[in-house]
Order: sequence, then structure tokens, then C-alpha cells
Amino acid sequence: MSLYRDEGVVLRTQKLGEADRIITILTRRTGKVRGVAKGVRRTMSRFGARLEPFSHVDLQLHSGRSLDVITQVETLHPYGEAIVADYARYTAGSAMLETADRLTVGEKEPALRQFLLLVGGLRTLAEGGHEARLVLDAFFLRSLAVAGYAPALSECARCGAEAVRAFAIVAGGVVCGACRPAGAAVPAAETIALMIALLRGDWAAADASESRHRAECSGLVAAYLQWHLEHGIRSLRHVEREWPGQAEAARDPAEPAHDPHVFRV
Ligand SMILES: [Zn+2]
Repeated sequence: MSLYRDEGVVLRTQKLGEADRIITILTRRTGKVRGVAKGVRRTMSRFGARLEPFSHVDLQLHSGRSLDVITQVETLHPYGEAIVADYARYTAGSAMLETADRLTVGEKEPALRQFLLLVGGLRTLAEGGHEARLVLDAFFLRSLAVAGYAPALSECARCGAEAVRAFAIVAGGVVCGACRPAGAAVPAAETIALMIALLRGDWAAADASESRHRAECSGLVAAYLQWHLEHGIRSLRHVEREWPGQAEAARDPAEPAHDPHVFRV
């Protein structure tokens, strides 16, 4: 057994036996880690209170054979306090945690950029300076970019033409009239401009956008994200068939921390 320290954001928690919890954390240096917090359900444990979803914490862990054991926790930023108090922030924050969890498939594979995006997104959400839906869409777009799935937004995703007409998820973003597949959405130019502003972090432009363009942007971004996550899950099923034991160990049983309706478009 060896000791290590890291900082991370609590993604979700689940019960283990009578008194313990398994805490899934996206850490700065180690990537996604699942650690056991012992005795946290037995009493009104301060240790357990620090290990709630949305919390940005400093941790000490013992690495074990299957799961690591969390031995110390200090709160760096209790983002959950401001997030769970507001329904729009809570649903947006829950979708961020779930997306970060699903985009970091392997455990202990460093994912520094995804970690930084998550901490930045939760901080912005907790501060309340921008509409929760905009903060969430900015997080989705940047997470997709970090994962290598940034949508094409200024040139046709298929041929590079500058005169674009439609948005096609299967094509990878905006497309020109010639490349446009059947059934592609035709969003307002302002909606595409909003997506570009969110991807770049241009908050002045994003905050000035109209409600109908925000709604259209959210619909497109959610559908685009969903398509890529489904794609990821399909690859995961493939892995499961090849290494059934490993997949079984990685699967989480009940007690989901998130609202399952968050991803409905
Ligand atoms: Zn084209």
C-alpha cells in the first residue's frame, strides 16, 4: 500500500456495506479515482460531509488492490452549497458531473484539461454571474473539444466551404447546402454565433444573446453531446465483451447521484 495526495472534484457517491461509501472523484493529477470512505454513513461524519458531489477537495489516499482508501479530506471549494440551492444550477451542475464522468472512461488515466474545465464550470455556476444554461452549454462544447469532438462552426464540416446553411450532428457540425444531409437542422445564424462565443469563452457576446437563440443552442449542443456519448457507450459495450471481468468491476450499481432526465433534449 502506498500513500498519495491529489485534489479533485467529487462526481458521485454510492453505498458500500453498512457504513462506507465509494466516492468517484476526478482528480487533477491521477485522473478518475474510485476511493472508499470508511465509516462515513455511521454517524454525522464531517469526513463524509466533505465528500459530497460538486465538492472540490484535497485528498490523501492509500492505494489498494482494487479500490483506494480515502484517509484524509480537506475542502478547497464547497461548490455544492451554492449549486444545490438553485434548481437550474443543480440540474446544470449534475449534467456537468455526469458528462465529466462519462468522458473520462478509464480510471487513473490523467485528464487534466477535463478536470480544469469541470472546476472552472462549477465555479462559474456557483458564482451565478451567467445563466446556468449558458454555463452548461459552454462546458459541453469545451468538453467535446477536449475529447476531440469539437463541432465545426465556421466552415462546412465536410468540404470546408465558408457558406454554411445547416447543422448536421452526423457530419460533425455546420454544413454547406451541397453537403447538407437530409433532416439536418437549420439554426439561426445567431445560434451558431452563440455556440462559437461559448466555445471561445466570449461571455460578453454570450450574455447578450436572445432567449430563443439560447434555447436553439441548448437543443443542438445537447443532441450533439448525446450522439457522441452514445457512440462512446457503444465502444464500451464492445470492451465489455472482450474483458467481462474488468467491465463487471467497473460497473456501478444503484444510487445514482444525478437526475436521469438531465440529458433529455
Ligand atoms: Zn460542404
